Amino acid sequence: MQLIMNTMERPESTIVSTIQTELLHWYARYQRDLPWRKDQDPYKVWVSEIMLQQTRVNTVIPYFNRFIERFPTIIDLANASDDDVVKMWEGLGYYSRVRNLHSAVKEVADKYGGKVPDQIEEISRLKGIGPYTAGAILSIAYQRKVPAVDGNVMRVYSRIFALYDDIAIPATRKKMEAIGDVLIPEHAPGDFNQALMELGATICTPTSPQCLFCPVSSVCEANEQELQDELPQKKKAKAPTPVSVRFAWIESGHSVFLVKRPDKGLLAGMWSLPTFDQEDPSAELDQYLLTRRWTVQSREVEAKIDHVFSHRHWFIEIERIKLDQVPIECGENEEWLDINSIYQKAFPNVYRKAISVMKKQ
Ligand code: SF4
Repeated sequence: MQLIMNTMERPESTIVSTIQTELLHWYARYQRDLPWRKDQDPYKVWVSEIMLQQTRVNTVIPYFNRFIERFPTIIDLANASDDDVVKMWEGLGYYSRVRNLHSAVKEVADKYGGKVPDQIEEISRLKGIGPYTAGAILSIAYQRKVPAVDGNVMRVYSRIFALYDDIAIPATRKKMEAIGDVLIPEHAPGDFNQALMELGATICTPTSPQCLFCPVSSVCEANEQELQDELPQKKKAKAPTPVSVRFAWIESGHSVFLVKRPDKGLLAGMWSLPTFDQEDPSAELDQYLLTRRWTVQSREVEAKIDHVFSHRHWFIEIERIKLDQVPIECGENEEWLDINSIYQKAFPNVYRKAISVMKKQ
């Protein structure tokens, strides 16, 4: 089978109709039963799509159910406190996602009376909504013919059409969206987009695509030419930079000292142990204790852990610092908390790991 793409990257019409028909039939029959597919509520589609960024479906399901139970409507979420919202996200990682979602939901409540906008220009202006999420919400909840191109979709298109473009660069996404403009059927844009994502997630997987069970194998160039292992093309991401970090577990009696991380940057606004990650973390901590004027009874590095983020790899030493007195003063965004109530706060995984290690010592 010779796939013909003209200069506008328009697949032949017979191939278009085969892909549409086969994919929609397959999706109708085999789609997974997922909680956000129970209805087409744009708010639930939105929450699920944000949760699913960088996170596996099975991990997301319980979080999604708990989140929707706690904040059943957009207004409930808009009226919730930041701490409550982050607490419901605790453990999912990439916390800027939930901060952006919360802030965008407040804007929808204020500006659009709680109705998620159904126009691409308006929805794209909301915080945290990029072209993929906009396409997913508009097509699934409002049946608009808008492409939703994520990593799964790029892999499927690369293989079906034998495209060697680097899927890590923005121009390739544009090209894939143009293909979507041609392929997405007017009568079922939401199902079609979801079918493509589902195919990428369950059949056309990165390392072992199951072409025998694939509904579009008859029109797939990678299948025809055995190119599955070569496609898609993706430039290797740089390895995360190693960083030496020191956490301070500062205790006074039964209380532990916690701080909120800065509003910008890694793990922005999350509760944490005091963290030192400059050139000489140990000296940085010495200086920190000096400026506080606390009387230190003892200090000792008690544990070492490591944690990998997308761009950084933290090698962490955790130092236990016992103070003589019970300090009563706290600055803004700081708190002494009884060790037994520490999990009232929402912590990113790296700090949960550190707290759990230190509680066991
Ligand atoms: S035939 Fe194979 S490579 Fe082609 S889309 Fe299907 S699973 Fe992917």
